[in-house]
Amino acid sequence: MNGGWREKSLGQDGPVVVVGGGPVGSLLALYLARQGHRVQLCESRPDLRRTDIDAGKSINLALATRGIVPLTELGLYDQVEPILVPMAGRMVHRDGSAALQPYGLNPDDVIHAVSRTDLNALLLDAAEATGLVELRFALRCRDVDLDHKVLTFTDYSADERLVEVPFGTVFGCDGASSEVRSAVHRVNGGTSVVQPLDHGYKELTIPPGERGSFRIEPNALHIWPRGDFMLIALPNPGGDFTATLFLPNEGPTDSFEALTTPGAVEKFFGREFPDFVELVPDLVTDFFDGPTGELATVRNTGWSAAADAVLVGDAAYGIVPFHGQGMNLGMESARLLDRILREHPDDVGRAFDRFERERRPDAEAIADMALDNYHEMRAGVVDPTYLIRRELALELERRFPERIAARYGMVMFTTMRYASVVQRARRQNEILATLTDGVSSIGEVDFERAAELVAELAPLPAQI
Ligand SMILES: Cc1cc2nc3c(=O)[nH]c(=O)nc-3n(C[C@H](O)[C@H](O)[C@H](O)COP(=O)(O)OP(=O)(O)OC[C@H]3O[C@@H](n4cnc5c(N)ncnc54)[C@H](O)[C@@H]3O)c2cc1C
Repeated sequence: MNGGWREKSLGQDGPVVVVGGGPVGSLLALYLARQGHRVQLCESRPDLRRTDIDAGKSINLALATRGIVPLTELGLYDQVEPILVPMAGRMVHRDGSAALQPYGLNPDDVIHAVSRTDLNALLLDAAEATGLVELRFALRCRDVDLDHKVLTFTDYSADERLVEVPFGTVFGCDGASSEVRSAVHRVNGGTSVVQPLDHGYKELTIPPGERGSFRIEPNALHIWPRGDFMLIALPNPGGDFTATLFLPNEGPTDSFEALTTPGAVEKFFGREFPDFVELVPDLVTDFFDGPTGELATVRNTGWSAAADAVLVGDAAYGIVPFHGQGMNLGMESARLLDRILREHPDDVGRAFDRFERERRPDAEAIADMALDNYHEMRAGVVDPTYLIRRELALELERRFPERIAARYGMVMFTTMRYASVVQRARRQNEILATLTDGVSSIGEVDFERAAELVAELAPLPAQI
């Protein structure tokens, strides 16, 4: 016995089951297969490789280093690369013109737009190709009996019959409203705190130009920042862009509550985003066709139940999308869990316990940074204080690359622990605030003082 659980290895007392075949579940199944385990992956939706899950819409997201590293480690990046569109910076739209703010100094400092469905399909194909992962679709988990080690699913491919699946260990990768999490918390007393954001989102499409051409710059993440709300657009390989409007849920104006008629939608977009209106001929139809999504941070403690169950991805910790990190966080977590499991092959319970201890501080850190980044994206990118500090930060990074790195870059282009990024960024911000106090342009900055302050920072980790 060890720490209240019986020592066991994976698969020792029953099948290894992954619940949820999203990006994190399918990646984790690949890692487990690489360790030599047979895995059943049970997903509630039909097989997205054979069904049009998104009803013809291409929903995309930003893939960054923390997601790329596991894909590379599993030998998949060469297959993923052709479906990516690189984005080298933010294209900020205001007053009818657009200006690029590059993400970093290094030409490799790019993030990549990728279709959720295409990436997920590629991971499912790869998992299936191992010969060790059995993919089971249309199975929605209803209950996890951790005493008797049985999962109950509704089988949508068989008249919604209830199906029981015995397990030795279950990996809960079933997203933000995880069923596995409810069961885990029932036995370990874990907590789940949902912090809803008072802003929601709506996805829209900028169609391609002639012969699949891009009608705005393809290699950028477009932002229309408007202070209290914003619109963004990410490119797709077919020339279209997936745009997302982030807006307060309630309020007499400039809110989803206020945009209930075609006239209100036309007026709002015409006033706030006239250049966008020109790009989307079916704007009003598109607006009312799609759902309005809710956003929340879901902070959970208690990620595992002995060696029987563990939560990974959004099931473990849900963050708002403003740093483009939710999936990247989950993929990096799958990689960490793989490493820890390999370090404790005979004591899965210990591995799960260690996984939460090491990872939760990082999940908490990126959850906070994601909330923070919403303000930066919708207002900061046009705020004069922000802009001068950003310019100085880039200059200091140029002069002292071994000691200064922008927070955005540390999150997006390194695998440095998120919690360390927060600490480092806080100290750097203090330095930037001191150096820009009373300064109206970067030419007025005292660079001798800057060198002294920067020298007080510890060098950046070698592998960042
Ligand atoms: C508007 C928006 C934009 C985003 N942009 C980005 C971005 O740019 N970059 C980024 O890294 N992240 C982004 N994210 C976050 C990202 O989508 C999630 O973090 C990521 O999808 C989490 O992956 P997951 O596999 O853990 O969960 P999910 O993607 O939610 O997958 C869970 C899977 O489990 C299945 N499932 C659910 N319940 C059950 C059940 N009971 N039984 C069986 N199966 C079940 C679901 O069908 C699904 O396939 C964004 C999120 C939103 C809302």
